[in-house]
Amino acid sequence: MGRVLVMLTAAAAVVACSVATVMVRRRVRRRRKWRKVVGLLKDLEESFETPLGRLRQMVDAIAVEMQAGLVSEGGSKLKMLLTFVDDLPNGSERGTYYALHLGGSYFRIIRVHLGGQRSSLEVQDIERHSIPTSLLNSTSEVLFDFLASSLQRFIEKEGHESISSQDVKRELAFTFSFPVKQTSLSSGVLIKWTKGFAISEMAGEDIAECLQGAVDRRGLDIHVAALVNDTVGALSYGHYHDPDTIAAVVFGTGSNACYLERTDAIIKCQNPRTTSGSMVVNMEWGNFWSSRLPRTSYDIELDAESLNSNDMGFEKMIGGMYLGDIVRRVILRMSQESDIFGPISSILSTPFVLRTNSVSAMHEDDTPELHEVATILKHLGVPNVPLKVRKLVVKICDVVTRRAARLAAAGISGILKKLGRDGSVGEGRRRSSDKQMMRRTVVAVEGGLYSNYRMFREYMDEALRDILGEDVARQVVIKAMEDGSSIGSALLLASSHSVRTISNI
Ligand code: ADP
Ligand code: MG
Repeated sequence: MGRVLVMLTAAAAVVACSVATVMVRRRVRRRRKWRKVVGLLKDLEESFETPLGRLRQMVDAIAVEMQAGLVSEGGSKLKMLLTFVDDLPNGSERGTYYALHLGGSYFRIIRVHLGGQRSSLEVQDIERHSIPTSLLNSTSEVLFDFLASSLQRFIEKEGHESISSQDVKRELAFTFSFPVKQTSLSSGVLIKWTKGFAISEMAGEDIAECLQGAVDRRGLDIHVAALVNDTVGALSYGHYHDPDTIAAVVFGTGSNACYLERTDAIIKCQNPRTTSGSMVVNMEWGNFWSSRLPRTSYDIELDAESLNSNDMGFEKMIGGMYLGDIVRRVILRMSQESDIFGPISSILSTPFVLRTNSVSAMHEDDTPELHEVATILKHLGVPNVPLKVRKLVVKICDVVTRRAARLAAAGISGILKKLGRDGSVGEGRRRSSDKQMMRRTVVAVEGGLYSNYRMFREYMDEALRDILGEDVARQVVIKAMEDGSSIGSALLLASSHSVRTISNI
């Protein structure tokens, strides 16, 4: 009996020992894996870093490239496109105007009524729809017929009091969020598609004429009277409310900026024919490139697999279309290099499956257990991850978005530098006076990324203060404009109309 007991005790001890050994081994393995993940995270943070010195170099590079793009056609990756907009709306406009805005993800149609004073601006109707993905690689005929049919439905909603019953054609501004070489305020040719669009048969075609043709084929009483880049629409809206507005930036599916430039600085344009002495320049800043941009292996892969590789490098680091995909690539790489996310998810390998609105939802998840993160990961085929892994995902969102927001701030500061409004001494000469240096400057900002992603906004504001310094930053007002691109285009059309009417008298 005694021997049996001894043997049993010994066996139990052996089992206990092996269990303990297995547990210790597992723990050691887990720790080793986690250490590897910590290493990967550290590498990630380093490669996405945007220290102040580097941001300042970017600010300089942007100002230099802006200058180069103004001097000669093709002089810079920044196209610095002429817009033929020399007068911005000021509040005195009157009438009823329409705008159709083709963005990267949405199209919008609006009708505004202007009563001759800022306070009487009335958005009478606004529609916002997702662009069907089938349109992205369709033909120009399909695209423009789709837009015309949407317009038709929009105006059919109007009651008997509609403008057409007064026997006047509806005046419409076509707000277009892709690069166009404008030939006048109302005409221009597509340079290239961006943001995942690949519609054939568009090269060399006048965009406004394409829409007018589709509208005419449907017998609609609409005159496509202006072709307006979305940034220019946002600037017009900003200027309508606040004449200190001199630039506008869009942070939506893609990103772009425009600003008001002196015509004598637009050297590549011999005869700008403006009365105001200035013209809005569409920078097409999504194509900005500098060796100082913190380009990572994720950016290189994303670019290589995109429809427009070697193009739009800046946009691919800051545009809403891309941030989600960068985060997806990071999570995928981590799940390949360690098994903290469990078996590799095939869903996670699908490009663009993680949208930037999910990134902001995870980033701003304030539940103690990070429920939102867990739900989104589950949809990506990554269920049941422990809390510390969910925290890691939040950190990845933070790293990617922080870089984007800081680069965006460098972009804005580059414009301010070019205009001598960044508080620095530029181009080897002193600015006219300290007073001018500190002039109030308003930058209109529009787009779903900016308006819906609080952390993006906060990081951008913080970086602007870092780059400009508190004193100058206090003079720089970043003003969010909901639907500014669409409303502003209608305002711009109204103001061009009043100018034309006056000069015709
Ligand atoms: P468009 O680019 O078509 O003009 P928006 O300006 O509304 O449209 O921007 C839409 C883009 O903004 C989306 O594609 C997405 O990238 C981004 N976005 C929208 N909502 C959010 C959100 N909640 N968080 C982060 N990004 C968002
Ligand atoms: Mg937009």
